[in-house]
Amino acid sequence: MAQHPSRRATQRVELKRKTLEAYRDVAGDDAVAEIRDLASGLRGMRVLEVSSTATGGGVAELLASQVPLLRDVGIDAQWSVIPGDQRFFAFTKALHNGLQGRPITISDADREEYLRHNADYARSLADHWDVVIVHDPQPAATRSLLADAGSARWVWRCHIDSSAPDPVAWDFLRPFVESYDRAVFTLGEFVPADLRVPVRLIQPAIDPLSSKNRELPGYLSRATAAELGIDVARPLLLQVSRFDPWKDPLGVVDVWRRVREDVPSLQLALVGAMAGDDPEAWGIYRELEDRVRGERDCLLLTNQMGVNAHEVNALQRVADVAVQKSTREGFGLVVSETLWKGTAMVAGRAGGIPVQLEDGRCGHLATGVAEFSARVVSLLEHPARAREMGVEGHRRVRERFLITRLLRDELRLLSELR
Ligand code: UDP
Repeated sequence: MAQHPSRRATQRVELKRKTLEAYRDVAGDDAVAEIRDLASGLRGMRVLEVSSTATGGGVAELLASQVPLLRDVGIDAQWSVIPGDQRFFAFTKALHNGLQGRPITISDADREEYLRHNADYARSLADHWDVVIVHDPQPAATRSLLADAGSARWVWRCHIDSSAPDPVAWDFLRPFVESYDRAVFTLGEFVPADLRVPVRLIQPAIDPLSSKNRELPGYLSRATAAELGIDVARPLLLQVSRFDPWKDPLGVVDVWRRVREDVPSLQLALVGAMAGDDPEAWGIYRELEDRVRGERDCLLLTNQMGVNAHEVNALQRVADVAVQKSTREGFGLVVSETLWKGTAMVAGRAGGIPVQLEDGRCGHLATGVAEFSARVVSLLEHPARAREMGVEGHRRVRERFLITRLLRDELRLLSELR
């Protein structure tokens, strides 16, 4: 993905082409037919998706597949990114954390800065859209700041666990959100009780044909892992996540240390993308470096070192067990990505994780270092059981969390707004 140089004002994201037909084998004839049927009434609809970064994190992952597929079925879809600087993204990350329940204070300067970026972005928008879908808090005020809203319908898409928001964060955001025609959340329990906008629920999904998720031969996965410094003859524990406090990477190190008392040869790989809209990540990365200094069997890997979609794909395949030690999680796309590869997981009882990972069938849900460690040890000691769980996980993702289901849900929403 690249941002078009001559359109910096609106930061349009350039995308690969994708065709729905390529998904027929994996998703089935019925899913393809339903999508074509829904899309037939929407041909030519102009849809703009707005987010805050073109790389890193689940939203970017979703839009990189969804927008090309919308285009393939006849929607005139574009994706654009709100431009921001360090100060803007520091504030919007605090707002994100506030929605997830961490106390926040908002100064007049924060408010002004936020509104200034949103107003600049609103001015740069052309008014020829039928539907504008705005993701998360960063660009949420755009709708209220438009001089002329035209005839477009506006959707606010929240990917965050906003079930128990800090009141300061939610009071700040709520008036902006209430200017929208619809608000979309991942789970019913995330919808704040006082929100006065028609709500729809849509769960994210993975693209089984992307370089992150497509089939890889075993030799290539192992060679890729070995190139990153992993000894493929020894067991590997993996977490793939932004370096974010809610994903608890420091807790993963504690789990690894505890499990190593039973399985001394266990390696740990912590893979963390540095998303452009997440200034907290470097601080956490440095804390991790301090915590594991001198530990040869713990690898910290980032997209800055060239650990990108293919490498994540390979690591999710060679890992003996993957963890997702989230304490709060909007959805946790990485859970479906991992289960799709048949790798058993131990993951937090948080947000969208239990919807994807059926406890005791595709892996285990856990809370706290002791429970995580005991579950990881048990999966390492019973590899046949771990493989069975991997098969179950793959089946569940095929049934519920493929991009074709998401495309169907989005087309239903667009039909409603026509
Ligand atoms: N991701 C990645 N490289 C990393 C860390 C994360 O490609 O080093 C991807 C991960 O594979 C997934 C997305 O970023 O596609 C994270 O989405 P998720 O919903 O799990 O969490 P979010 O970051 O949106 O909170």
